[in-house]
Amino acid sequence: MTVKLYENDSYIKEFDATVISCEKCEKGYLVVLDKTAFFPEGGGQQADKGTINDANVLDVQIKDEVVTHLTDKEFNAYDTVCCKIDWETRFARMQNHTGEHLISGIIHSLFGYDNLGFHMSEKTFTLDPSGILSDEDIKKVELIANKAIYENRNITVSFPTSDEIDSIDYRSKLDLKDGVRLVNIENYDTCACCAPHVSRTGEIGIVKIIDYIQYKGGMRLTAVCGINAFLDYSTLHDENKELMHLLSSSRDKVNEFVKRDHDVIGAQKAQINMLKSQLASSNLDVVTVGTTRLGFTKDASFDDMRALVNDELDNAEKIAFFSENEDGSYSYVVASKNQDIRDLVKALNEKFSGKGGGRPNYAQGKINAEKDSIIKFFEA
Ligand SMILES: [Zn+2]
Repeated sequence: MTVKLYENDSYIKEFDATVISCEKCEKGYLVVLDKTAFFPEGGGQQADKGTINDANVLDVQIKDEVVTHLTDKEFNAYDTVCCKIDWETRFARMQNHTGEHLISGIIHSLFGYDNLGFHMSEKTFTLDPSGILSDEDIKKVELIANKAIYENRNITVSFPTSDEIDSIDYRSKLDLKDGVRLVNIENYDTCACCAPHVSRTGEIGIVKIIDYIQYKGGMRLTAVCGINAFLDYSTLHDENKELMHLLSSSRDKVNEFVKRDHDVIGAQKAQINMLKSQLASSNLDVVTVGTTRLGFTKDASFDDMRALVNDELDNAEKIAFFSENEDGSYSYVVASKNQDIRDLVKALNEKFSGKGGGRPNYAQGKINAEKDSIIKFFEA
């Protein structure tokens, strides 16, 4: 059984320990120490990284109360080793994890929802409250959480006995009574948890819910705390500054200016499309070959070609319109009111290494051909 230093003191960054065993494995060496402050993966939080002497700690796992460190170097049993936690990463995770307890605790006390899932990624984390929260609810939770941070509340860890635990109201996913470790955020939350936490809410720095969706009958919230929230704000600030420059906008007008430009671009796009279809129509050159009306234009979209073909449907048995593209290929739309044109389209594709198809009396596609050879094909 490894002595778990991280359970009672989240702030141990360096410690000495004695090697109990070291076994070679596929990925390196599995090292067991008499005690450790390396947090093993669990409770939604990733395993700590760091070093044991000059070996890198790649992973930490716990099984049957024994913590195993995966390292890239070998150790001898009874060696005294110097261990260092990658503190920057660990502290950022503690900020996020305690922030998650705070949000979950506030949601629980305001709405009675449980947190059904917690997952930490590199910078952010998600939590899954069991019921629906409105936009206003989310804002309210976020505001209370940040006020709790300014209050700089105490956070304590306790190990109540199985008798004591009956009188304590706490959040927990498992119905355990023995060996429960409780993390208490004064005035806000008590939750069973195995992970290291900050000791005062002030250390969380800031809580920001950055996204939320409805998920499995409840919600999935994505949030960020502490240094990662600061870095997120910093990135957003830089992006906003660039937008301000591009739009010649003041800081508070960026949104308004983007909306304005978005509307202008939308109107311009509609106008361009209208002009393009007018151009396709005025460029249209129509010849009749046998029972087919052949039309040629250029740079027309399939929508435009369909519209042009529909206008001609009553004028011939078959309509075949072609539009020359920038790369020299031709897009085509072939249609007939009452004839099956599938064989014709198949032959057209085969002759001019084209692609396309559709319904028995309508097809569209693309071929590689010259105008003259298309006319010759229809003449033949
Ligand atoms: Zn937890």
